[in-house]
Amino acid sequence: MNIHEYQGKELLRSYGVAVPNGKVAFTVEEAVEAAKSLGTAVTVVKAQIHAGGRGKAGGVKVAKSLDEVKEYASEILGKTLVTHQTGPSGKEVKRLLIEEGCDIQKEYYIGLVIDRETSQVVMMGSEEGGTEIEEVAEKTPEKIFKEYVDPTVGLQAFQARRLAFNINIPQDQLSKAVKFMLGLYQVFIDKDCSIAEINPLVVTGDGNVMALDAKMNFDSNALFRQKALLEYRDLEEEDPKEIEASKYDLSYISLDGNIGCMVNGAGLAMATMDIIKHYSGDPANFLDVGGGATAEKVTEAFKIILSDQNVKGILVNIFGGIMRCDVIAEGVIEATKQVGLEIPLVVRLEGTNVELGKEALKNSGLNIVAAESMTDAAQKIVSLVQ
Ligand code: ADP
Ligand code: MG
Repeated sequence: MNIHEYQGKELLRSYGVAVPNGKVAFTVEEAVEAAKSLGTAVTVVKAQIHAGGRGKAGGVKVAKSLDEVKEYASEILGKTLVTHQTGPSGKEVKRLLIEEGCDIQKEYYIGLVIDRETSQVVMMGSEEGGTEIEEVAEKTPEKIFKEYVDPTVGLQAFQARRLAFNINIPQDQLSKAVKFMLGLYQVFIDKDCSIAEINPLVVTGDGNVMALDAKMNFDSNALFRQKALLEYRDLEEEDPKEIEASKYDLSYISLDGNIGCMVNGAGLAMATMDIIKHYSGDPANFLDVGGGATAEKVTEAFKIILSDQNVKGILVNIFGGIMRCDVIAEGVIEATKQVGLEIPLVVRLEGTNVELGKEALKNSGLNIVAAESMTDAAQKIVSLVQ
């Protein structure tokens, strides 16, 4: 689960991690009010969307008067921001963070992620703040420093000090940077984060160390024990198809291609996407309907795929183990009855009750292309959508 910058900063503040003062605003009036109550000479108007790269896209503006706050707030609210993280269609800005302007001496980068190779949390730091870390990793990898955290003892102060030292935090700010890093690590652990990225972390003119940006992601599998975080969820920022899928407990992820996939089992779903790619096609989604899917669940899954305007053809690839092929067939038929089917559909069924399933599909009167193997299925759907 993703949250907004202002929410991330609220969390950080509650852990004693320094962030600038700021307020969320949903309207231009609220933005001006917020700036008034901050009472600072310089105010920053920041678009709140679940994506980074806002600065370069015109979503972060420095205002030197209330009139400018009003001007920038009117300009950014309602605007569709296209950043390198939003995709070409962009994201509409519905909230702003009105924040006190900060006298930046230098920008740094601090990020916490889980390293799957070592099964440890790793804190990364760089003095190349403000730029994307992927770019730093590519061009000047020697400028990224890492501290791996032993989970039994947590991040140690000496590690934080070493990292701060490596990224050239000035001597006078070292202890503040250490406090910052330890606090950030504590939030990461307590809140079951999957990512906590502060880019930039800044040293200010008056000698403070604070987070100017905050990107926090949380492990969705841990949300059952992080109920308070659900308050932060902004459904408007999420893909409606993914929200719909989560209601039916389907593992669904939207992708950019045009071949809708309905598969059972995560492994088979991955393999299906691979083989579509292998034959030069492009999957529109990852979808695992799960082992014990009911006809209703399959119907909903099929409807979600069909609601995607980009989908030009569908591949159903089912291996019936626990899942029965006739149930899948029933779901497919029911869904197409409810929403219609105007695009090619290739079905490959194998396993339990496969004959019953094939029979049902054949008798349904639907225009279905039967496939005998995964290769056959992938080749057929790829050529049909071309
Ligand atoms: P994004 O990463 O989405 O572009 P950031 O929050 O990192 O958004 O802001 C982009 C840049 O804007 C920062 O690198 C910083 O230079 C500047 N900036 C952001 N917030 C402030 C602030 N409160 N005061 C001064 N400058 C800011
Ligand atoms: Mg940033």
